[in-house]
Amino acid sequence: MKSGNHPLLINRYNQLNDMIQATQKQVHSTTKIRLLAVSKYHPASDIRLLSIETGHLDFAESQVQEACDKIQCLNDLDLIWHFIGPIQSNKTRLIAEHFDWVHSLSRQKIAIRLNQQRSENLKPLNVCIQLKLGDEDSKSGLSLSELPEMADSITQCNRLKLRGLMCIPPKSDQFEDQKNWFRQVRLAAESLKQSGYEMDVLSMGMSGDMQAAIAEGSNMLRIGTALFGPRDNSDL
Ligand SMILES: *Cc1c(COP(=O)(O)O)cnc(C)c1O
Repeated sequence: MKSGNHPLLINRYNQLNDMIQATQKQVHSTTKIRLLAVSKYHPASDIRLLSIETGHLDFAESQVQEACDKIQCLNDLDLIWHFIGPIQSNKTRLIAEHFDWVHSLSRQKIAIRLNQQRSENLKPLNVCIQLKLGDEDSKSGLSLSELPEMADSITQCNRLKLRGLMCIPPKSDQFEDQKNWFRQVRLAAESLKQSGYEMDVLSMGMSGDMQAAIAEGSNMLRIGTALFGPRDNSDL
């Protein structure tokens, strides 16, 4: 261990996994849950340490440039990179070239660009459609009614693979309210699947609402604060 901070990170990782397991037991979930370590604003050295000490491979970032610097610095490890932030058109090439997953897709124009820019040498880019919940104008995402059209255009992109839905619900510390948002996403996914779209991912649940997300069938948790600790910029 290089500094006093490191055992803390590993402890938090172990506690987090224990907590996920305990929650699953409580809500009778037998889903295989994939944990994404949201490493935005935390240094590459933390990512390296976590991965080397625990074998963890899935990391998520929300700022393209910051992420690309870390990806380069860590390219000796076989990590899996998830993009979860807002996507500007002029950043799609970097995302298409460097990421394995995009969770925050909500515009057709962006889907088309990612599809054009994804190299034939790479596997198709895994994508989730980000749903907008509530009327929070600051949050990006698609409304429920726009979902089928978006799913349809993604399936026409052969360099993209539609995997599921993602959401960032309005903040609430009430378990039942949190569950209600996540339920909407689960039902939207079920309805798309009934229309014939193949999807296997519900990307939902962050540090403050992961238990409700698990109770509603999440199988990808995106956890930052509960793992790496607070970020300098608490908005990001
Ligand atoms: C930052 C972020 C997270 C992680 O949030 P925490 O509350 O720190 O766990 C998850 N998803 C997205 C899209 C984020 O931007």
